[in-house]
Amino acid sequence: MDQRLDPIFRDYFASRRDDILRDIFALVSIRSVKGEPAPGAPVGVGPARALDKMLEICRREGLSAENIDNLVGEVSYGEGSESVGVLAHLDVVPEGSGWSHPPYEPYLADNGLLYGRGVADNKGPCVISLYALLAFQAAGLNTRRAIKLIFGTDEESGSSCVKRYLEVRPAPTMAFSPDAGFPAVYAEKHIAQVRLEAAINGQTVLRSLSAGTAANVVPPTGEARLSATVPLEHVTLPENVSISQDNGDMLLSARGAPAHASTPWLGKNAAVLLLGALGDVLERDDAAYQPVHTLFSLCAQWDGQGLGIDCADEVSDRLTMNLGKLAFEDGKLTALLDLRLPVTLDAQRILDSLVARAADEGIRAGVLSLSPGLYVPKDSELVSTLMDMYRQATGSDEDALAIGGGTYARLLPCAVAYGVTFPGENTNCHMADECQSYDNLVRAGVIFAHVLAQLAGE
Ligand SMILES: [Zn+2]
Repeated sequence: MDQRLDPIFRDYFASRRDDILRDIFALVSIRSVKGEPAPGAPVGVGPARALDKMLEICRREGLSAENIDNLVGEVSYGEGSESVGVLAHLDVVPEGSGWSHPPYEPYLADNGLLYGRGVADNKGPCVISLYALLAFQAAGLNTRRAIKLIFGTDEESGSSCVKRYLEVRPAPTMAFSPDAGFPAVYAEKHIAQVRLEAAINGQTVLRSLSAGTAANVVPPTGEARLSATVPLEHVTLPENVSISQDNGDMLLSARGAPAHASTPWLGKNAAVLLLGALGDVLERDDAAYQPVHTLFSLCAQWDGQGLGIDCADEVSDRLTMNLGKLAFEDGKLTALLDLRLPVTLDAQRILDSLVARAADEGIRAGVLSLSPGLYVPKDSELVSTLMDMYRQATGSDEDALAIGGGTYARLLPCAVAYGVTFPGENTNCHMADECQSYDNLVRAGVIFAHVLAQLAGE
């Protein structure tokens, strides 16, 4: 980092403290949860108002700010055939319940934390990236690459904002998204959802079956209901599965432990437990016997071995699979899978072989979605600069991260997640009492100003 710039950037942030706080509060006061489309508000009135406010703040600072279809905003600064982008978002998830103070009446507490829905995810970072640009300007730096601040309004559900941006604007040459944590995330696995379907033709004692609510969560519980004609002498139920009587039916209940689908080894999958137990309980001549056994053998292992797709790469490590939802409806057994595929491997080929393998076993597999992963090499100008600035500012010796999760950054062709939370920091993201340390926000802002100076400064 340029040591001469450091005090300039710090002083600039200190001199604008009141404005930074006022701007964050103004944005957090707007409930920008996705809503029904309205005229001039394609993802709801709240997100459109938050975008208007953000762009008004940018114009107040003398910057040229453009509103693209009330969906995404752009501040363009300086000249250059290449550009450096900063991608953040103004929409928030619903507030939920359990707040100590009203979620849309933000404040700075005595402990130095800002409270309110969106202070961390992601309005605080939106404001701080603006002030990083203003600090760059205040230092009298010229641009060799243009700087683009991009403010989305639909990150939390669908990201139509960035998709629209890329339809009407060239992608930034390189970008970072302060919508996660430090250090930088240089690799994210491909993410796919696959539905498996097995028809049950004939007589079965299975009446209902359900486990899980979403593909991306390891199911913590599951339950199967059987008409009570099954003799149980030959059955030894696994641990965490219990059996009980209910209205003349037999209930099989599995208890696991939840985890995010990208880290299935941290949880215990109740859907898998339930399938295994059900396979033991059902008689051979039951029509559900074979489909249940087959599904279990395909899905039991979180590394995809059962489907013959276990694999790994140097960058992002092993493939992971989560059986996120299990159901029995209309005579069909269905399983929803969340797959995280090594980023340097060909996702389509892996999915093709999954579909073929399932078909061999009489199971229909359909790929519901595939979100390509992200990989920007560690020695690229972008990642090496981000990591250098972070290490020099913090004295840390951390390495850039590869993750199984997906961030906002993957939507741009050459972008990585970077900040603003520091290791060990908790912001109650997406929960009640969302908070953000003001001092750490400013620390991140100073780092961003250095990054802009390195990547975009002359
Ligand atoms: Zn976010």
